[in-house]
Amino acid sequence: MKALQVLAVTSEMFPLVKTGGLADVVGALPEALLREGVRVRTLIPGYPTVLAAVPATKVMRIGGSLFGGQAQLLSGRVGTANLLVLDAPHLFARSGGPYADHRGRAWPDNAIRFAALSKVAADIAMGALPGFAPDLVHAHDWQAGLTFAYLRFSSGARRPGTVMTIHNLAFQGQFPAETFAHLGLPHEAFAIDGIEYHGGISYLKAGLHYADRVTTVSPSYAAEIRTAEAGMGLDGVIRARGADVSGILNGIDTEAWNPETDPFLAATFDAARIDPRAADKVDLQVRFGLDQDARSPLFGVVSRLTWQKGLDLLLEALPTLLGAGAQLVLLGSGDAELEGAFRAVASAYPERIGCMIGYDEEMSHRVQAGSDALLAPSRFEPCGLTQLCALRYGAVPVVARVGGLSDSVIDANPAALGAGVATGIQFGPVTTEMLRVAIERTVALYNQPSVWRRIQANGMAADVSWRDPARRYAALFRDLLSK
Ligand code: ADP
Repeated sequence: MKALQVLAVTSEMFPLVKTGGLADVVGALPEALLREGVRVRTLIPGYPTVLAAVPATKVMRIGGSLFGGQAQLLSGRVGTANLLVLDAPHLFARSGGPYADHRGRAWPDNAIRFAALSKVAADIAMGALPGFAPDLVHAHDWQAGLTFAYLRFSSGARRPGTVMTIHNLAFQGQFPAETFAHLGLPHEAFAIDGIEYHGGISYLKAGLHYADRVTTVSPSYAAEIRTAEAGMGLDGVIRARGADVSGILNGIDTEAWNPETDPFLAATFDAARIDPRAADKVDLQVRFGLDQDARSPLFGVVSRLTWQKGLDLLLEALPTLLGAGAQLVLLGSGDAELEGAFRAVASAYPERIGCMIGYDEEMSHRVQAGSDALLAPSRFEPCGLTQLCALRYGAVPVVARVGGLSDSVIDANPAALGAGVATGIQFGPVTTEMLRVAIERTVALYNQPSVWRRIQANGMAADVSWRDPARRYAALFRDLLSK
């Protein structure tokens, strides 16, 4: 089979810059795709952290001015990743996050910053970079969405295939209509059959509308976003694309997430030798200042603290958790109100509830290794990665029955327990009451050690690697190009 050349376009990529699951996916997929005969080069903005981490050489000067400043394209490698870095200091040379300053205020020129990324992506796709002729462009989320609009209206003999992947429909890249005049797109793009959205414009809609295929990160989420409840205003556009929209569940990096070799753990373990996990539980209890009670079921949370993640429901369900004799550790950051509320309950019950506000990669591994169960009560969840890590680490996932959470966890209902295939606990609808029931069910299962062991072992045996997802992406790419 002929190797495919793919240009990936993204605003973040692990380990260079990360605010969420998007970065993990974009970081891990290229290596998995390589095994399927797909070579990926990833275009990413030249944020200071990226420029500092990537020894890169200039491969192209971008002629004239790119949205008001000089820019160049660099090429470099990080590990096995093959990168193209858009070095445009007027857009990306700032301290702070990729989308916002240190205080969380969105950069006022985000519309232009990510239009520039997309414009350069489209130019590369059309052959601007000598020696690189991608067969296909794979752009991620709204930040790269305009790529498809620029491609649609560019002239040239090349017509690479185009695939847009949505990691979270909640982020749509909406800007006022005035922005349109600065984008250099023809007037016809400002239309319902284009990027116009309720009088303004949406970069995500550009991708939904103009990409040959749209994928999202789980089959269930792909189905849910066709409905008004989960479509976030774009369900009509998504329905109109019919079978062009599909879902491919994410994997995780099973090297970085390997309990047999994980350097951050107090004790390593594997499915056949799970007892050392007990030491990780004690370590976690100590680090979070909890009672070192081996028999108390320990629930863990690793999450952004936002409405999406449903952790306000967990706050309401805490009396049930405490009443069942359980403990809780939470690692997360986000909304100030939720941060404050979790700090408050942790100081009210210091020996039972522990909370760390912040982002801490190492600690996230310890939470997965030391918790008995991992909670993910999301109101919606395109895929979710923490439940995949939990499966691999023997922390039984307790998840809302939405999106990728429902696709990756087999609920311990009587049928699944009877067949010996359960890997976790699901609950729905996503309400405090059903979360309470799920916590009670979890504790009841935990108190049956042989049943619990089986659920843990099933989860640890589940394939959460990128192998199967990469096969599916490669098949989709080849199918599209064969048309
Ligand atoms: P989302 O992308 O919506 O935030 P996902 O579950 O898809 O949710 O991905 C979140 C990723 O970020 C996971 O890899 C998770 O382990 C990590 N993560 C989230 N919050 C933290 C935190 N406070 N510290 C360390 N890692 C975190």
